Amino acid sequence: MPEGPQMVFLKDQLSHFVGETVVEAKGREKGIPYELVEGQALVDIKTFGKELLFCFPQFTIRIHLVLFGKYAIDSTLNRALQLGLAFENGEVNFYACNCRFIEEPLDNMYDWSIDVLHKSFEAKRAVEKMVSKPTQLICEALLDQNIVAGVGNKIKNEVLFRRQIHPESLVGEIPVDKLEALIEECVTLSSEYLEWKREGTDNDHWKVYKKKECPRDHVPLLKEKIGKSARSCYFCDKCQQLYLPDNL
Ligand SMILES: [Zn+2]
Repeated sequence: MPEGPQMVFLKDQLSHFVGETVVEAKGREKGIPYELVEGQALVDIKTFGKELLFCFPQFTIRIHLVLFGKYAIDSTLNRALQLGLAFENGEVNFYACNCRFIEEPLDNMYDWSIDVLHKSFEAKRAVEKMVSKPTQLICEALLDQNIVAGVGNKIKNEVLFRRQIHPESLVGEIPVDKLEALIEECVTLSSEYLEWKREGTDNDHWKVYKKKECPRDHVPLLKEKIGKSARSCYFCDKCQQLYLPDNL
């Protein structure tokens, strides 16, 4: 699933469509009024967490690539088209994604300050939200898009390794200064990830995600599906501390 930095990277790749008029809108997505979209000028493209937002004067089209979503710029893929937007200067096509037609002002719908890649992101608020559910596993809290929008499984695993926190730690048992540092690391890594995407080197930088050995201790990493969401965790139980109540 694409994470926040990948969506910002995609937004950059589509920036030449901003200011252009849609000459054709098509696809099998039922909720889009295609004839209304055609003839409209694209005013802006924004991202929120893992979502891409095509902003038109009176409405927005939201794209979420979910687990297996794909896109093609100025080309097509051999699969069912979910939504395609063609402009005078090119086209973008989306597949296996969720699309939504939004008429509400975005500022009413989105709290930009929870997006780790947004300039208004507030780490302190994210920590407060996390500690309000003290029995949650940290590996699940980090994937909560209502707390840290844009963080996905790669960023989750890497920040836990960087800050040496075991993924099965309970949020309420982790010292608050360590939680703050962990959230700040989400911001730092997201920016780095975006730079790596732009350089085309993102796959060269992961320390634990889909790796076999801890780069600190040179012992095998563990890979486990942890928590209700059962997303894969890659971690080292030698250098990542497990924070649990004393009586466990
Ligand atoms: Zn280690």
